[in-house]
Amino acid sequence: MHPATARIIPPHPKLVSHSSLERGRGMADIARLTGRFRRLEKTQEPRRIKPRSVEQISEVLLDRRRFPSPVRPVGANSNGTRCTRVHGGTVLDMSEMNKLVRLDKKCVTVQAGMRLRDLVRILADRDLELMASEEQLDRTIGGIISSASLFCGTAIDDPNLAASVLGIGLVTPNGRNMDFDTSTPEMLQVLRQSYGLMGVVHTVSLRIRPRSQYTVRHGKIGFAELTKLLPGLATAKAGVKIYLLPFRNRAFVELRETDGKARKPRALAWRARDWIANKLLPDLLYLLRKVPGRRFRDPLIDGFSEATQVLINTRLVDAGSNAVEQTGKFRRIGPTARTRSCTWVFPAKQFGAALYSYREYCHRHYKISGFRCDLPSLAYRLLPDPCALMSPSFEGPVFALSLRTTVTDGWEDFLIDFGAIAGRFGGIPLLNYTRGIPATQVKQAYGSRLEKFCLLREQMDPQNRLINQFFTEHLG
Ligand SMILES: Cc1cc2nc3c(=O)[nH]c(=O)nc-3n(C[C@H](O)[C@H](O)[C@H](O)COP(=O)(O)OP(=O)(O)OC[C@H]3O[C@@H](n4cnc5c(N)ncnc54)[C@H](O)[C@@H]3O)c2cc1C
Repeated sequence: MHPATARIIPPHPKLVSHSSLERGRGMADIARLTGRFRRLEKTQEPRRIKPRSVEQISEVLLDRRRFPSPVRPVGANSNGTRCTRVHGGTVLDMSEMNKLVRLDKKCVTVQAGMRLRDLVRILADRDLELMASEEQLDRTIGGIISSASLFCGTAIDDPNLAASVLGIGLVTPNGRNMDFDTSTPEMLQVLRQSYGLMGVVHTVSLRIRPRSQYTVRHGKIGFAELTKLLPGLATAKAGVKIYLLPFRNRAFVELRETDGKARKPRALAWRARDWIANKLLPDLLYLLRKVPGRRFRDPLIDGFSEATQVLINTRLVDAGSNAVEQTGKFRRIGPTARTRSCTWVFPAKQFGAALYSYREYCHRHYKISGFRCDLPSLAYRLLPDPCALMSPSFEGPVFALSLRTTVTDGWEDFLIDFGAIAGRFGGIPLLNYTRGIPATQVKQAYGSRLEKFCLLREQMDPQNRLINQFFTEHLG
């Protein structure tokens, strides 16, 4: 709890003065003595099933007694929210369904549990690539296309991997196997980024292309200059990625241009960049946190962060391709990763104001609580994406702001307070990636699209086989 909040809400007197607590007993002991936590004690572990065939998925969805609701499909489980969490329900781990089904020069069909890493390698061996350069290769194709995802897309890319979907094989909540393709575009629009609430995806067909190349340009500017550039960046043909250091008032802008003049990318340079940004820097900052005295330590951390950004953003890479960028192996995610991350998306027009408030908030929060994120934040421009009903960029270009840290103490409080600020600037939460979502914000951000999505969800799943507590809370 934030110290200021802690002052306002004193701890529960009965709990604090309880003799067992004074004797240092655990929660389970207290529960047995008082009954206060009895419900938590009864929480059941979910059944975990790894289907190997469509028939097994159908069997799970049909047999309610053996496989209790809610049933949640899970890919790599790298999401940052409770979207796959169940108490006493069933987890359908799709990782065993990971085969290549079909491949030609324009389309690849894979089972939903295939890792992005494996798909990229299969394509690269044939000089092909995806139309979106999603990072974090341990994720599954089913998980990525079923949720919101971010990447630095150029004019020739799709806005995200879900937008590249040409066909989906789905087991509906009542156990029926159905195939959807571009002949039913309205159905694909509902199924892309649908968080496994319409059914379990077992096969995905994606648009692909021959390998292409882009030029990378870099610039180092202050926040004031950046906000002036944002309207142009919102509609730029180049892909836009920005590293933000609010305590240094510094932004490193990376532009990716597909102008046909790009040199051949150097795979080794991309690997070095991946290692420095996603392994060396987080590990170093983790160690630096042990330096006593925040007045000395925190500027030191900022200094290292900035030096690293200068190195990776101005020296290492000047050309790239989706295939080369996706060979990195250090960007680990999920509960065991050292780096914590949370993303809010903002309409392009409001992002400038949101950025200022973000910087002010970082300073204020640090002054009051002593907490601050030690890694640079990342901003991506996301291209308009009307291909998915629940897409955060459905209505036009947006900027995604990813807050990142290796510090865990105080992180959740930081996010709760930031969530309230984000709401004031039209913040759009991602149900797989935004923590601390204020109660009304999902409805406010997705509006009538959410109503339509919920209506269709009720039609597809009238017995609520797939919806868990998290989605019940946020979709209403
Ligand atoms: C620290 C951290 C950093 C992150 N960084 C990024 C980032 O840089 N870019 C980015 O795009 N995302 C990022 N994410 C978000 C996360 O990687 C995405 O949620 C990811 O796309 C999910 O892939 P997955 O295979 O892990 O899916 P899961 O997490 O397993 O599932 C995600 C959603 O899809 C559903 N689902 C999964 N498989 C299926 C299926 N076969 N059928 C139907 N529904 C299914 C699940 O029920 C769930 O609702 C980050 C998350 C964290 C915690």
